[in-house]
Amino acid sequence: MGDAEAVCDSPVCARPVNAGFRLCGQCRQVLGRELLSLPGLHRGCGTRLGGQRDPGVRDSGVRQEAVRVRADVVDVLGSWCGLVVGERGTVGPGSPAVEDLVVFLDMNLAWLASHDAAGDFHAEVGELAEAGRLVVDHAARERDVLGCCQRPDCGQDVRAADPGERVVRCDGGHEWGPEAWLALSSKPRGGHRSRRRRAERKG
Ligand SMILES: [Zn+2]
Ligand SMILES: [Zn+2]
Repeated sequence: MGDAEAVCDSPVCARPVNAGFRLCGQCRQVLGRELLSLPGLHRGCGTRLGGQRDPGVRDSGVRQEAVRVRADVVDVLGSWCGLVVGERGTVGPGSPAVEDLVVFLDMNLAWLASHDAAGDFHAEVGELAEAGRLVVDHAARERDVLGCCQRPDCGQDVRAADPGERVVRCDGGHEWGPEAWLALSSKPRGGHRSRRRRAERKG
C-alpha cells in the first residue's frame, strides 16, 4: 500500500493525507482549533458553573454536566500528555493546569497527527470541545431569562429578544412590549412555579 492510497483516519473524513500523517490538513487544522479552545471552555464550565454558583443558571443538570466536562478535559488531555512523554521520552507539561496540557499537546500536534492513535486523539478532543460548547451555550441561554410570563395561565420563562426586536417572548410564545419589560423582570425568579401550582389547584 503506497502513500497515494492513504486517507485521513478521522471517521468522518476520507480526504487523502500527506506522507507520514494519519490526519489530513483540514482535520489537523480543526483539531488544533478545538484543542486551543479547551482552556476557555474549561474556564467557562468552571468559574460560572462548577465552582461558584451562578444564580442565573438554575438547571442543576447543566451544573453537573459542567463538572463532568471539566474532569473529562483534565483526564483526557492528561492521558494524551502521558502517551507523548512515554513514547517520545520528552519532558512533560510545565504543570497539570489545562493551559499547560494544551500548550504541550499543541507543541506535539504534528507528532500526534502521525501517530497510530491520531484518529482517536482527534475524536476525543472533538468530543470534549463539543461537550464544553453545549454546556457554555446552554448556560448562556439560561442567563437570557428576563423573568416569567405574566399571563395567569402561562408563567413560562420570558427570554431576552434578539437585537433590534421590539418585543420579548415567553417560551409559550406570548409577546411583551417594552412597557411590560420592567414588570416582567422585577418578578423574582422561580416565583412562577408556585403561581402555576396555585393556578392548577384552582382550575
Ligand atoms: Zn481529515
Ligand atoms: Zn406566556
